[in-house]
Amino acid sequence: AVPLVVAKSTALSAKNGLLIKNRTAFENARKITTIVFDKTGTLTVGRFEVSKVVSLQKDISENEIIRLASALEQKSEHPIATGILQKAKDLSISPPATESFNAITGKGVEATVEGKKILVVSPGYLKENNIPIPEGYTVNDIETVVFIIINKQLAGYIALSDEIRPESAEAVKTLQQHNIKSILLTGDNNKVAKSVSETLGLDSFIAEVLPHQKLEKIKELQNKGEFVAMTGDGVNDAPALAIADVGIAVGSGSDIAAETAGIVLVNSNPRDIVSLILFGKATYRKMI
Ligand code: ADP
Ligand code: MG
Repeated sequence: AVPLVVAKSTALSAKNGLLIKNRTAFENARKITTIVFDKTGTLTVGRFEVSKVVSLQKDISENEIIRLASALEQKSEHPIATGILQKAKDLSISPPATESFNAITGKGVEATVEGKKILVVSPGYLKENNIPIPEGYTVNDIETVVFIIINKQLAGYIALSDEIRPESAEAVKTLQQHNIKSILLTGDNNKVAKSVSETLGLDSFIAEVLPHQKLEKIKELQNKGEFVAMTGDGVNDAPALAIADVGIAVGSGSDIAAETAGIVLVNSNPRDIVSLILFGKATYRKMI
């Protein structure tokens, strides 16, 4: 039988935007010493808006950059994809069909469109493949940038901006008051990660991490004796969510993340993580 205090707390949690799928996860919440946050959709709103489109080739218009990028993004679940597709819609551009679509884990997407091989990828991908980052490529600190490559030629880039959730700073502060560290772990670029981290007063940040590195980082923290919670939204986050002591899926994210995690953050609000931990502490204190 489920102890009454636990049943009550579970019901309370539902009211507070938490879906507890796994009792052990709830029981473990009170032991958390470090929370590893995936930036997009938890600390930030997770709604990317295109703020700049740049063509780097004379014969390619900015609309063509959006048209080709949107073709690939039709097949992606990433919040970046949603932002680019919205821009296409705003410009009344209908995305063309793609062939041989492939998601390059943690780096972007590739496909063939109208016979051309197109990639939409991260700055990290350019570095890795020794593609020089174009001159004049400047973004402000909070922009995520993806580059468009057409038949191996760098053709342009799209900058997107997201917003920090108004509740995030308060949540991080409250966690710190309970001696719980907040760490940002993101596949996004270093500038964005640094800016978010400083704005929110996080304990540390790690940027440009690939999905398998997220898993390694969780293990590393656990080996140091930390009891680790991790939040994530993507298909790519599932392995890290599974290995964390408490896996927390963001409500707006992919089904696979939600299936793997013990807890689902229905409203994707970091404040609800604070509630989760405090509920956990209160519940099990009553039982002992
Ligand atoms: P995170 O969840 O921390 O943002 P991801 O692994 O999902 O990290 O993505 C890392 C980076 O890979 C993104 O910042 C972006 O540059 C690139 N990327 C991932 N998916 C896409 C996509 N659908 N379109 C364009 N770029 C993408
Ligand atoms: Mg992600």
